[in-house]
Amino acid sequence: MNVMSHEGSNPIPTHARSLVFIGLERSPPYILESSKIPLELDDGEVLLSVELATICGSDIHTLVGQRTTPNPCVLGHEGCGVVLKSCRPDVRVGDRVTWAICASCNNCQFCSLGLSNKCENLVKCGHALMKRAPLFGTYSTHIRCPKGTTIVSLPPALTPQLAAPINCALATMVNGLSKIPPVPSPGEQGASVALIQGAGMLGLYGIALLKEAGFSKVYCIDTNLQRLSMAAEFGAIPVYPDQAWPYATEPNEEVIPPDSVDVVFEVCGNKDSLPQGVRALRVGGTYVLIGLVHRDSRMNVLAQTIITKCLTLVGVHNYTGKHLEEAVKFLSLHHDSYPFSSLMGPVFPLSQFKNAVEAATSGRFFRVAINPQEK
Ligand SMILES: [Zn+2]
Ligand SMILES: [Zn+2]
Repeated sequence: MNVMSHEGSNPIPTHARSLVFIGLERSPPYILESSKIPLELDDGEVLLSVELATICGSDIHTLVGQRTTPNPCVLGHEGCGVVLKSCRPDVRVGDRVTWAICASCNNCQFCSLGLSNKCENLVKCGHALMKRAPLFGTYSTHIRCPKGTTIVSLPPALTPQLAAPINCALATMVNGLSKIPPVPSPGEQGASVALIQGAGMLGLYGIALLKEAGFSKVYCIDTNLQRLSMAAEFGAIPVYPDQAWPYATEPNEEVIPPDSVDVVFEVCGNKDSLPQGVRALRVGGTYVLIGLVHRDSRMNVLAQTIITKCLTLVGVHNYTGKHLEEAVKFLSLHHDSYPFSSLMGPVFPLSQFKNAVEAATSGRFFRVAINPQEK
């Protein structure tokens, strides 16, 4: 059923070009493939052309074997696009949008528990077998969002460069923020100091979210000096881990006293950071774990310390549609208040995917982008 069809002057092409993961036993483990765009969509589906896609750390994990990805599967999950065809009354043809990376059934026990990101019938963008969800990945000229995908319109101010990482990095941090206790108003006693471990894209979004949530002080720790200086530009107090942490920091000699921080966000993916985070937390503090989504993540922390400090440990994996809506709202309001636009590195066409991956793994850029429409 097509409740709405393409009304623009450019007809929808017959074929899409996509970067398809074909398994680690092949070299390279991906091919550029052409596939038919369906003339008709199924109920609840939306067809989009991808404006811009960005390379997230977990795409790299797939390519180096740190995470298992089914194949064949269209790679890529961060991105934004324009609606070409819609089988949903709430999604309009011609709108610029972002979409949730998790398509959920809204019917199972996890969906009803508010954990649609853990839906029993989950279909995940950039991580789905093509026969289950054809064209559900962002390294593609076109993307076909299955039924159950939250789709959110983007205002013109959110350019493709600003918008592409919303649907992974920013929405995940919005979910992380939802796990911490309410921040008291100025003058009240309570949580107002945070530590973010990792000054990558997630960490920088985290700084902005915590600042806007009312945190008076946000420390950010990283081993990469370039990233730390960007964290400072976002308003965090940079902390260098090799300066006898947590007693000395550079360049402003601020310190993080042990047992003093209300909230710690782990977004660095390094298990060795965990004892530091536990040490920094005050009694009753909250530790939000986000970045350690790989096998090398065994915790080296005394349970006794967690118990006696009455700490709360929370795991955050992806996000729900509600968090995506909040993320778009947040960036619409605050994109001018922080240097978000300086986080985007070079943009590559699909045909130069190898170069794009090299740039993404070099550590020189917060995000490297793919423009699938560029030849
Ligand atoms: Zn991601
Ligand atoms: Zn479900």
